[in-house]
Amino acid sequence: MKMCDVAILGGGPAGVAAAIQLRRYGITPTLFEADEIGGLLRNANLVENYPGFPAGIDGNILIGLLKQHLEQVGIEVRNERVMLLDYADNSFRMETVNSTIRCRVVLVASGTRPVKLLLHGLSDAEGSRVFYEVRHIAGVQGKHIAIIGAGDAAFDYALNLARQNRVTISNRGTRVSCLPLLWTRAVEAANIVYRENIALSTFLTTDSGIDLELLQNGQTISESADYLLIAIGRVPTLDFMSDTLNARRKELETAGKLYFMGDVKNGLYRQASISIGDGVKAAMMAARTLSESER
Ligand SMILES: Cc1cc2nc3c(=O)[nH]c(=O)nc-3n(C[C@H](O)[C@H](O)[C@H](O)COP(=O)(O)OP(=O)(O)OC[C@H]3O[C@@H](n4cnc5c(N)ncnc54)[C@H](O)[C@@H]3O)c2cc1C
Repeated sequence: MKMCDVAILGGGPAGVAAAIQLRRYGITPTLFEADEIGGLLRNANLVENYPGFPAGIDGNILIGLLKQHLEQVGIEVRNERVMLLDYADNSFRMETVNSTIRCRVVLVASGTRPVKLLLHGLSDAEGSRVFYEVRHIAGVQGKHIAIIGAGDAAFDYALNLARQNRVTISNRGTRVSCLPLLWTRAVEAANIVYRENIALSTFLTTDSGIDLELLQNGQTISESADYLLIAIGRVPTLDFMSDTLNARRKELETAGKLYFMGDVKNGLYRQASISIGDGVKAAMMAARTLSESER
């Protein structure tokens, strides 16, 4: 079985930054990405807090630059999902559908996955009428999109889609947890309607779209839409960790062999620049572990 020095799990901003930094030490990591380079940033409408871009930068343009940077330093991306990460006999074992490799050091940058809304019919329509990330419907025009949620993602998605569509945001409570500037922009946008104390109770797919029933203050509201976009929170993606690895996680982190970076470990503080800083730091620490083990 092939043995590598460093493997990176995830090609979002954290994984990309770690790979670039490792190349500065002459280390070529094996970078696994299940989907596409860029991670969650593929949903970002306009990134306005990333230093160096005073006018803001479209998330997808920023990703193009990250891809270019990876290519320039000679990182090849393995487009494979890691199904299992385990530790035994002083090394990690990573299994994908196509291959198994062993590594001395692993950097985990697997980000987050969406919290799913549990309601009859939703899972069957996922991928056709129901989505958890805006990138899947970013190009649609002239549609009605119902968004569930009240955080940064729900409002960012709404502003993105409202340029060419009609959008309704439904908040099941009254608390809005997005940036004040997103709230102000949404309130001012002609194509966005925001409603609170309203919860989705029934969902049905029709020939032309979806029929929804929503409960607001004891009253049922029926309406049709083309798509339902759900943004009700995210949780760390760690489903590939074996039980053995979970049990030894702290020990391996202390030994400098296992690192978690970016959104997967940052709780509420999920930002691309934080993930990038985490990636660079983890790469520097991993390079040190490897050079010390060679002495
Ligand atoms: C709508 C929206 C707007 C945003 N706007 C901004 C903004 O303006 N400024 C800002 O700084 N941040 C913004 N963010 C947040 C930013 O996108 C994230 O903080 C950042 O992408 C996190 O990077 P990451 O590398 O930690 O994780 P992610 O970007 O989530 O990347 C994780 C990667 O790991 C891969 N992966 C997961 N599991 C596996 C596996 N088993 N095997 C292989 N690969 C795997 C995933 O496919 C993914 O590509 C926004 C996010 C959203 C949703």
